[in-house]
Amino acid sequence: MLKSMILGTAAALLTLAGDATAAPQVLAPPMVPGPGVQPYVRVGNPVVILTHARIIDGTGAPPQEDRTILIANGKIVRIFDETMPPTTGPTKPLESLPARPGPDSPTIIDLTGRTVLPGLVGLHDHMYYIARPNMDAAGHSEAPLMVPQMTFSSPRLYLAAGVTTMRTTGSVEPYVDLNVKTEIDAGRMAGPHMDVTGPYLEGQNSPFIQMHQLKDAEDARRTVAFWADQGATSFKAYMNITRAELGAAIQEAHRRGLKLTGHLCSVTYPEAIALGIDDLEHGFFVNTELDPGKQPDKCSQSTGNATLLAMTPESPEADALIKSLVAHHVAVTSTLPVFEQRIPMHAPLNPRAMAVLTSEAREAYLYARNLTNQAPRERYADTAREYRNDLGLERKFVAAGGLLVAGPDPTGNGGVIPGFGDQREVELLVEAGFRPEEAIKIATLNGATYLGLADRIGSIAPGKDADLVVVKGDPSRAIADIENVEIVFKDGVGYDSAKLLESVKGRYGQY
Ligand SMILES: [Zn+2]
Repeated sequence: MLKSMILGTAAALLTLAGDATAAPQVLAPPMVPGPGVQPYVRVGNPVVILTHARIIDGTGAPPQEDRTILIANGKIVRIFDETMPPTTGPTKPLESLPARPGPDSPTIIDLTGRTVLPGLVGLHDHMYYIARPNMDAAGHSEAPLMVPQMTFSSPRLYLAAGVTTMRTTGSVEPYVDLNVKTEIDAGRMAGPHMDVTGPYLEGQNSPFIQMHQLKDAEDARRTVAFWADQGATSFKAYMNITRAELGAAIQEAHRRGLKLTGHLCSVTYPEAIALGIDDLEHGFFVNTELDPGKQPDKCSQSTGNATLLAMTPESPEADALIKSLVAHHVAVTSTLPVFEQRIPMHAPLNPRAMAVLTSEAREAYLYARNLTNQAPRERYADTAREYRNDLGLERKFVAAGGLLVAGPDPTGNGGVIPGFGDQREVELLVEAGFRPEEAIKIATLNGATYLGLADRIGSIAPGKDADLVVVKGDPSRAIADIENVEIVFKDGVGYDSAKLLESVKGRYGQY
């Protein structure tokens, strides 16, 4: 009975895969890992049965204990609320893998002591490192600020941490990101499903030398049209864009069924809402509507800090903004790890994260961290208040029915690392007051909902893609257990987290 069920589902899946259109899409049909990816595959059998698993399903519901998950051909076929009958074959404890099963027999893995979560959907997951040339211990560095592409290490870091779908949220090498997506989707590189964001839509006087500076609204429209034709599936506006350019870019993206987000400054949140933006990056940190001396279409000196200081969660300004965001269905992306770095004595990077940095990246991070810790406390009182206000606003936004999504933003002082940062974001959401199950929902199902893919990914249910993270422990009791990733399933293929991390040891910051 079990076998006929599996075969029936497999036939249905093949039909589905045949319907794939030629248009670029975030979720490509399942593939067979090629020779370059095989070394990182720990579970490659098309039929996998996970027994004795605790499930946190991504919907915000409490954990389900001792479940059995049947995976076939990349899909979750069924979840049993009791253990499988012992007739299905010998169960292997996780430690004994890889045990190469025969082609007809399923791989059965005993997950006692583990929790299965949906694959994380990271919506601020850059593919680069931020470099400050010739940085010294006093924090001095030379212009220009650079963001070297981390094409080798980033995709592996994201997948190793449990990120199975990611949005690049601004690209400095869009052709590279598009090619990486093609390679991953073809099974030639290990990495998550990718929503490739086009090049930053930035205005004049950008501090980033790698960004094109838009000339006018027509340039914005043309840029979106060109990169959508190349395969970009989302867009991001940046700090110096004008309202006219943003409006034109949004219109062109929407005409093609694509979404546009923004890390704004020159355009305020209310202005962007009125122009039809889909998502706002960095929580409430970069809204400039109350910044003193704010000129239309110009980035203010405070870049939103003054607004956040003034906008306490209980203020009428906060009420009005959140009401408008919810009414216009504008999502907000929480990127707490990058702002945590500004707080003195914030949690240091864990040793496994430190190990993936180049020695230069490690040195730069420690310099920056020391400067933050040593600076006079009073300078940081405002920073701490801004952080608190943002947490309150994010909670209020969710309570009002807003769609909060998550991503780490690996930039800042170098202490935000792809993948590790995605896990840290969930921990910080819990510190912010969300229940662990809610925080996990924000980082999984909410991201899938934003991408329009909630019927395929983001939660654990029969019929959905087998994009799953196996962690040791129970994140519903201790959220830091989300760091204990052992296997990451993407379309039913189980990747070995430790091996992926080992392969990028000392590489983040280099390539
Ligand atoms: Zn960013």
